[in-house]
Amino acid sequence: EARSRGRGGIHFFDVAMQAALEERVRLEGWLSKALPDQLRLYYQMQVDCSGTIQGAEVLIRWLHPERGMIPPCDFIPLAEETGMILPIGRWVLETACRQLKAWEAVPATRHLRLSVNVSARQFRQDDFVREVLDVVEQTGADPANLKLELTESMVVENIDQVVDKMARLKAMGIQFSLDDFGTGFSSLSCLRRLPLDQLKIDQSFVRDVTENANDAAIVRTIIALGQSLGLEVIAEGVETAEQRNFLAVHGCSNYQGYHFSRPVPLEEFELQLGQGRRHP
Ligand code: C2E
Ligand code: MG
Ligand code: MG
Ligand code: MG
Repeated sequence: EARSRGRGGIHFFDVAMQAALEERVRLEGWLSKALPDQLRLYYQMQVDCSGTIQGAEVLIRWLHPERGMIPPCDFIPLAEETGMILPIGRWVLETACRQLKAWEAVPATRHLRLSVNVSARQFRQDDFVREVLDVVEQTGADPANLKLELTESMVVENIDQVVDKMARLKAMGIQFSLDDFGTGFSSLSCLRRLPLDQLKIDQSFVRDVTENANDAAIVRTIIALGQSLGLEVIAEGVETAEQRNFLAVHGCSNYQGYHFSRPVPLEEFELQLGQGRRHP
């Protein structure tokens, strides 16, 4: 870059590059030892329009002994690049399914569903379907309570293969949600072919939905699209009662966001379950 070639520029650039590289190597080394002790799943409730908790999205957290909590945006991309996402993704799936199995044994919690984020590299594996079915079988979880979150970029390439994988999992009762919807470039014809159950409106459209006319129009359009395709629509990043009300008025039936709860450890999520409805 022209500016970094100015006086002292190259030197500064090298130092910054060097530091970034060292951090990457350090994180990579740490990450290879993070499983199973340093990784946790947090649970963020998903509610329907009456405020009833339908289940949760599981979100990974890395509790590093020296560094403290490292957010997923700082290590998921690295884990994708190195391939570490494969054992990590399997661990997430196993942990979620074990939890479903435990809830299924108790009448008050047997309806709960968990949404699990699947990474592109994980989904692209030839034996992804086998892996998910193995985990479901080994844990004994009811596949109908498991929802896999895919993103648009994962489903636009090799659509035939994607549809085939999804169909084989759906045949077992597993559900699918399209995460961060509206930020990618999936075409309507692509969307129509996918055996989805849910569209998840990206939080970037929800943030200013009550102030920004363009965002409001996009959100209304996504909800209408979901309805016409017969899909459940959930909004993520719902932080205020005003946002929730806008969504409800326009027909969005399910919500997730700080207005209801932040992602929390299991013990806290189970306390929330005991407290019943949230901000209907
Ligand atoms: P995502 O799947 O779109 O998850 C939603 C993110 O929004 C989460 O960030 C969640 O904590 C945050 N969020 C929820 N409600 C609100 C709200 O009201 N306001 C705001 N500002 N944010 C909210 P988190 O936990 O940092 O995760 C970031 C991303 O990392 C996820 O985005 C997902 O793409 C990825 N990720 C998280 N866990 C996993 C995992 O187990 N496997 C894979 N492959 N990716 C994961
Ligand atoms: Mg997600
Ligand atoms: Mg999302
Ligand atoms: Mg998102």
